[in-house]
Amino acid sequence: LTALQSFLNLLYNGYVSPEKQKRFIEQAIERSQGLLDMVDDLLNLATAREEMSPRNRVLISLAEPMEQAGILMQARAEEKGVSFSMQPMHRPVIEANPEQMREVWTNLISNAVKYTAAGGAVRVILEEREGWAVGTVEDTGIGIGPDEQERIFMEFYRSPRAKEMETQGTGLGLALVKRIIDGYGGTITVESALNKGSRFRFKIPVATSSQTTLSGGPVQK
Ligand code: ADP
Repeated sequence: LTALQSFLNLLYNGYVSPEKQKRFIEQAIERSQGLLDMVDDLLNLATAREEMSPRNRVLISLAEPMEQAGILMQARAEEKGVSFSMQPMHRPVIEANPEQMREVWTNLISNAVKYTAAGGAVRVILEEREGWAVGTVEDTGIGIGPDEQERIFMEFYRSPRAKEMETQGTGLGLALVKRIIDGYGGTITVESALNKGSRFRFKIPVATSSQTTLSGGPVQK
């Protein structure tokens, strides 16, 4: 915010030559986008608990938000020259707020695309195993060092290599993903090797058979 304000003050006071003005305005736009992303992530983080309250949960297949997020991210991957594949092996049904499930998939897939250079690959898989819906997002990107693997789920942490590769980022995406998954009684783990790639895997309990069948409407409690 301070940087954005000083760009605007310099422009307002006429201290920037006409040929440099466009660059300053571009930087101001970039900073304001960063702030918008940060506010958006902070709001999602602050309201996560409320968003998963029983009245916001419905029975959904975890494949639906995966496909919605995947279609958007596929375009971004292809633009960047990263190959993208999505495999819903099963369509496990869980009881959750669909918007939060879209956030989980979008954050994990966008990170995989963001931290993988051209020529790499991103693979998204969904399975059902022993009462769990299991989602996997793997990439062949920059990887995460062993000392960093537990810090990446903390608010605001961004690794120096990630910052170097991708200036845009709030460091809040994985904190949000973890808060949502924990809230649904699930877990998330990461396996990674530097310069080889990363695999994020999360699991959420499937809805029990005593619950009503997939309806799209609110679950009756
Ligand atoms: P952001 O991507 O905005 O920096 P996140 O909370 O989503 O924030 O991720 C935190 C950090 O975890 C990233 O800055 C990066 O260091 C690391 N990270 C997350 N996903 C990946 C990935 N797929 N490959 C390499 N590093 C990753």
